Amino acid sequence: MRIAEIYASLQGEGLLAGTPSTFVRTSGCNLRCVWCDTPFTSWKPQGREMTLPDILSAVEPLAPRHVVVTGGEPMLFDDVVPLCAELRSRGFHVTIETAGSVLPSPGPPRCDLMSISPKLASSTPPADTPGGWARRHEASRRRDDILRTLSASAPYQFKFVVESAADIDEAVRWIDDLGSDIDRGRVLLMPQARTPEELATRAEWLAKECDRLGFRLAERHHLLWFGGRRGT
Ligand code: SF4
Repeated sequence: MRIAEIYASLQGEGLLAGTPSTFVRTSGCNLRCVWCDTPFTSWKPQGREMTLPDILSAVEPLAPRHVVVTGGEPMLFDDVVPLCAELRSRGFHVTIETAGSVLPSPGPPRCDLMSISPKLASSTPPADTPGGWARRHEASRRRDDILRTLSASAPYQFKFVVESAADIDEAVRWIDDLGSDIDRGRVLLMPQARTPEELATRAEWLAKECDRLGFRLAERHHLLWFGGRRGT
């Protein structure tokens, strides 16, 4: 698997926010979100090939007992299945972070938290983006069949990145389309923000919307704690 970085920090988002975690960040993505906060795994992927023993050797010495397998898009790699199985057999709690638009060929890896972040229409890059990425992103970003498979395979959370009322409307329609099995208490709205100031303004507005809709607010604590620096 191509790995961009492995490091220990605190989980900054979602139901496990604040949990000491080791992040295994794969490199490569089938999408190109216009606001991607890890462009070194999507727009300009970096990293090196690592075998499963290499990855396990990098994770084991670090202190956290929680591991977050993230990206990029980790589901692009079939090896994510044995990686997660081995981590769990060694007693680690495993979260997978995915956009839910692709599955490895063996099917969904087993994990303890399936963190699914479907990409709304506002994530699509401009039409004139080189490489045809507007069309490719738009054609790939929504796969309800995969979302249902993932949410049935493990405890889950849905995280939507939101910057406007239109985004909220799309997220509500999308959750409704997925059916009544989806627990709204596991749906989180996360403010799109690149700076602490942007985060504070959007979070205040979004908190009221979450209260109205029965969703949760997902802060982006790492922006406040670490300034969103790489490796944090
Ligand atoms: S799915 Fe994630 S890694 Fe891929 S482009 Fe979007 S934000 Fe970046």
